Amino acid sequence: MSHPDLFGDLSTGESADTALQKNHSLGMPSERAAVLRGILHRYAHAYYTLDQPEVPDAEYDRLFQELQALEAAHPELLSPDSPTQRVGGAVLDAFAQVTHRVPMLSIRTETDTEASGAEAFDTRIRKELGLTEADPAVSYVGELKFDGLAMSLRYESGVLVQAATRGDGETGEEVTTNIRTIGQIPLRLPSDAPDVLEVRGEVYMRRNDFEALNERQRQRIAAGTKGEKTFVNPRNAAAGAVRQLDSGIAAERPLSFFAYGLGDITPTKDGAPQWLSHYDMLMQLKAWGFPVAEQTACVQGAFGLVAFHQRIASERDALPYDIDGVVYKVNDLALQARLGFVTREPRWAVAHKYPAQEEMTTVLAIDVQVGRTGKLTPVAKLAPVFVGGVTVTNATLHNELEARRKDVRVGDTVIVRRAGDVIPEVVSVVLDRRPPDVPQFTMMSHCPVCGSLAEREEGEADHRCTGGLFCSAQRKQAIWHFAHRRAMDVDGLGDKLVDQLVDAGHVKTLADLYRLSLSTLSGMDRMAEKSAENLLQALEKSKTSTLGRFVFSLGIRHVGEATAKELARHFGQLDAIMVASEDALLQVADVGPVVAHSIRTFFDQSHNREVVQALRDAGVTWPEGDALAPTEMPLAGVTVVLTGTLQSMGRDEAKEKLEALGAKVAGSVSKKTHYVVAGAEAGSKLDKAQALGVPVLDDAGLAVLLSGEKP
Ligand code: NAD
Repeated sequence: MSHPDLFGDLSTGESADTALQKNHSLGMPSERAAVLRGILHRYAHAYYTLDQPEVPDAEYDRLFQELQALEAAHPELLSPDSPTQRVGGAVLDAFAQVTHRVPMLSIRTETDTEASGAEAFDTRIRKELGLTEADPAVSYVGELKFDGLAMSLRYESGVLVQAATRGDGETGEEVTTNIRTIGQIPLRLPSDAPDVLEVRGEVYMRRNDFEALNERQRQRIAAGTKGEKTFVNPRNAAAGAVRQLDSGIAAERPLSFFAYGLGDITPTKDGAPQWLSHYDMLMQLKAWGFPVAEQTACVQGAFGLVAFHQRIASERDALPYDIDGVVYKVNDLALQARLGFVTREPRWAVAHKYPAQEEMTTVLAIDVQVGRTGKLTPVAKLAPVFVGGVTVTNATLHNELEARRKDVRVGDTVIVRRAGDVIPEVVSVVLDRRPPDVPQFTMMSHCPVCGSLAEREEGEADHRCTGGLFCSAQRKQAIWHFAHRRAMDVDGLGDKLVDQLVDAGHVKTLADLYRLSLSTLSGMDRMAEKSAENLLQALEKSKTSTLGRFVFSLGIRHVGEATAKELARHFGQLDAIMVASEDALLQVADVGPVVAHSIRTFFDQSHNREVVQALRDAGVTWPEGDALAPTEMPLAGVTVVLTGTLQSMGRDEAKEKLEALGAKVAGSVSKKTHYVVAGAEAGSKLDKAQALGVPVLDDAGLAVLLSGEKP
């Protein structure tokens, strides 16, 4: 029978957290050890057997080390079933069992994560080998500690016959079919390989494969597929794929492999060792076709270990897969044999970890932030936590669906992950530690910044503020867009100046741009009076525009340059666009329901109409006319490609003029292209036109086209 406290809520209904806290205050080493064992057993079961970790590794490691220290101080507390004495977890009945001929052990973890941890290992090895200061440095192999799961691959007569998980170290699970789907694992070995060869290594999932898998899983969940879930990290995803009963599903989940050791092997005929060092063995495995990490290095003494630790630490973020540390191994196999093993680990190797990439913390609040494009993003405000080498206080929850799917609530204890240069993420909630009565997160229906309606379009995950021009969070973006060369073309109004003008409160709405004075502008950083004058002139010039440019400049969602031009062409007048129903908008070429709805919502908001009026009042004008049917235009149906440097005008100007006459200006040459206008230094587009026999025009030919004739 287990101790009543052993399994936290499994036996008493209380949570692991409560058991841990309560017991801390009692302070009896034997009771504390029993509670720690119970909780570690439970976490190990969730991690190894169910592939569903409840807490981050860092939390598990802290409790594990606390238990190790207790057992070291009170050897009478040590029991054979303690997690400190065992490797891995139970074997699932669903798989055939494999008895490992050579046990698959764990590795001792150096508790000191500083460089001094490497020195401590070297000191221990030298002591155990009885070396003195006069003896030379010990040779080690520095390897990466891949964060995946251990695998034993058995080859007989050069053919992969069995793949097995570590299980409890003695007995593992037979997962050959799933492992055969990993392209990096050779199914057949060259003829010089021994008759029996067991290669030990790590099956892992690359970060981009993991992200893609989770994205697919999210889509499946969104589509209502039952039984699907996302994975908290690549290790968990790899373990889930390997221990998948349906090998079809396993094959969909891309896994990778690195070899780092050996199990069973046929002795050579004369009994001499196949190789003398661990490094030589790895190089032979590589020669036989097994992936061996290129960072694997032979280093000398404590100095070499420390340098290796530091080098890999600086490369860690850039690796395409997760590592949780490095492993040092004594290189000389004869020395390895002399050092031997303790219960669950060899004496000749140690794992030296880096700061955890997953940690636990609490959610203090969930704020909703409005981005420059109006996207509303729920962001978890976290109690500061050191993870992946930085202190994290915020983590995006992406959108309401994601926040709900993970069910993150204020007051929750969450697991935060920061791996590589990926932004920190809340991967899951430790449900066990949720305070009572905390409400679910719901997205607000109005923008927290400007109070405009917040909408989520069908098929989209994000809510967006529909305030557009009016919302101060979107102000800078709106102004940049408005001033853009292809919109109102305000030359000299760059990003930095917009930042300054908005931050200093000089521009609150677009129309304020036309009220800027010379003194305000020349007071801005790096603004000489001459540039300020030029900008004022550019602003003045921009007042005379076209309807298409003006509509585009408003930054209505989904309304790009081409759509804006189509709207202008179709309706002829701004007021007609502003009052058009969604049905009327749908009559415009290229306008579908989403765009029509977006235009309608934009003009339905009184503050957007006010901004338009303010711009008109400031003197912005364009020629208005009647709607013009595209087929009446002189170059309707003509497709032109522009390339090289034209003498008579810039390409943008040429494009605009051609489009105003109804031509379509395309980016690439095809058989459907009618003309290619080629200026100086035209490149591949000209070659392609010649190859396809498309007529090529120079500046003079362009002038003919612009007169409405077809050359
Ligand atoms: P370990 O993972 O720390 O070390 C041994 C394993 O390292 C080997 O089995 C092998 O798979 C792997 N490894 C990677 N690179 C290697 C290399 N170059 N050479 C040799 N081995 C290499 O030890 P462990 O006993 O498997 O388990 C402890 C780990 O599991 C800890 O990181 C712990 O945090 C985690 N864990 C987490 C939870 C949880 O709830 N989050 C529960 C149990 C265990």
